[in-house]
Amino acid sequence: MAAVQETIYRAYLNKLVGDEGLLIVENIPSEEITDERLAEITGISLNTVRRTLYLLYEHRLAVYRRKRDPDSGWLTYLWQLCPENFDKALESEARRLLRKLEDRLCYEKNNIFYACTEGCARFVFDDASDANFICPYCQNSLEYMENAKVVETIERQIDELRRCL
Ligand SMILES: [Zn+2]
Repeated sequence: MAAVQETIYRAYLNKLVGDEGLLIVENIPSEEITDERLAEITGISLNTVRRTLYLLYEHRLAVYRRKRDPDSGWLTYLWQLCPENFDKALESEARRLLRKLEDRLCYEKNNIFYACTEGCARFVFDDASDANFICPYCQNSLEYMENAKVVETIERQIDELRRCL
């Protein structure tokens, strides 16, 4: 997996299931596994493991199969990830990020920015002008701020994202 895909994948999962959830996902083997076994391997509580698995299930990222123990009559849940749905989720997440970056790029290219000399905040021209070029937070002056570097960074991120779509 390319670095940028890996980053998106982790960020996406982290948002969905959190730090512990991410660790759980990373420990799910390609064959079926029970929730108890996953809790054992990761050292994460069974409740959290179950919550994570059901969250993944709701997002179609995992499936389970019930198996009844012939002796005890107890039900065991055998879990498995759905790699193809992970790919789809990753792709739509990448597209969502791409749209966000494109909006941001547009904003950067269509505005002139002024920033507080003390680094409090950055303002678009109209807002800076309304404030008489005085920082509303610290009363220092607001000065014109080049954003070519910001534009360049966003363009690079867009390029990287497009390459993994
Ligand atoms: Zn300031």
